[in-house]
Amino acid sequence: MNTRDYQALDRAHHLHPFTDFKALGEEGSRIITRAEGVYIHDSEGHRILDAMAGLWCVNLGYGRQELVDAATAQLQQLPYYNNFFKTTHPPAVRLAAKLCDLAPAHINHVFFTGSGSEANDTMLRMVRRYWALKGQPQKQWIIARENGYHGSTLAGMSLGGMAPMHDQGGPPVPKIAHVRQPYWFGEGRFGEGGDQDPEAFGRACAEALEAQILELGEQNVAAFLAEPVQGAGGAIIPPASYWPAVKAVLAKYDILLVVDEVICGFGRLGEWFGSVHYDLKPDLMPIAKGLSSGYLPIGGVLVGDRVADTLIEEGGEFFHGFTYSGHPACAAVALKNLELMDAEDIVERVRDDLGPYLARRWAELADHPIVGEARSLGLMGALELIDPETGERFDKALGAGNLCRDICFELGLVMRSVGDTMIISPPLVITRGEIDELVTKARAALDATL
Ligand code: PLP
Repeated sequence: MNTRDYQALDRAHHLHPFTDFKALGEEGSRIITRAEGVYIHDSEGHRILDAMAGLWCVNLGYGRQELVDAATAQLQQLPYYNNFFKTTHPPAVRLAAKLCDLAPAHINHVFFTGSGSEANDTMLRMVRRYWALKGQPQKQWIIARENGYHGSTLAGMSLGGMAPMHDQGGPPVPKIAHVRQPYWFGEGRFGEGGDQDPEAFGRACAEALEAQILELGEQNVAAFLAEPVQGAGGAIIPPASYWPAVKAVLAKYDILLVVDEVICGFGRLGEWFGSVHYDLKPDLMPIAKGLSSGYLPIGGVLVGDRVADTLIEEGGEFFHGFTYSGHPACAAVALKNLELMDAEDIVERVRDDLGPYLARRWAELADHPIVGEARSLGLMGALELIDPETGERFDKALGAGNLCRDICFELGLVMRSVGDTMIISPPLVITRGEIDELVTKARAALDATL
């Protein structure tokens, strides 16, 4: 079959996630056929630098034979068995132990899921169950953040703060509130907080959280959910004042902290977990994506001692689980992925070498006339596009971000656009030379967007 054949079948039968089906029909999909290192290849012979690591997940890069071998060996040995009731299997046990070894000291348990969305569904039920066991069943409200993304299941989309998702497919899960995100560029510099410096803005976001807690009644709030750096919302790096102020508010009212590590975990910010970078000590951490470098689907919730001890000692059976919780082949691949990351000092390289190098090179793009801000942390970065004529944000209707994204693709670079915010989150094995190529192509795309 050639490209046109695939496109025709795709158009006829395949409903893509997050896609306008009609527009897809007009344009046709690009058919990705293979990949190695940080590059993907399409059916027309183009080689494209994947600066998004797929969907923020291919942390070890494409084509790692060790991961293929781990999957093959496990599929031959034991392709499937479950962890329900009183059975388990070596890959799930070894992965659980490895994760708890890597996690902060107060985290010693993990519940496996098939994805990040399922991890957040699981977290929601655990948190409410925890407070019920503590004799406070009214503590059910979860406060998350506007513009956050926590998945596409009903609970995932409800926890997320993306209005277009709430508007489709029925009402969100009750008792979930959203507070402002610490997005200084969009809502501080170009928003109502325009007269505040970033640190004052960060503190104001924490005050908004406190106001929301008081409005709901502190006795009713179970947990606050956030990513260390908001990923899909736009690689939003909070001002330094934000997290310490948020932690103080949560401690004041005895509210659990859930840190969604689905993107920030496994080296993205130069630590094994983004929470470590910000010293957050969360009660629970949903994980997925980089856990297996995306080679096979697996997620989970890392559960701190406070919650785990209560669930175990006082909870009896927890009526929750998935057929693929801790799937043997997925667990074997995730374990091998973590072992390779360890052996190759991937996290340290991001923290000490590649992250600082990207920060230096990425910051150079701030001098481009349509760039209002260039920010990065570890191997995640964003460019904020602005209208060079006015120095203001582009009129949304122009779709400058999507235009820039499409030009990138033509130039052989995958960048993602969220409105007029351009995002990168490349594989953690990217080299300095490949970072140079990324920056050169990004500049060319910005020139062509002008
Ligand atoms: N949480 C965060 C922070 C995410 O970015 C995502 C996916 O992008 C999810 C949860 C949902 O994960 P999944 O797509 O594996 O269900």
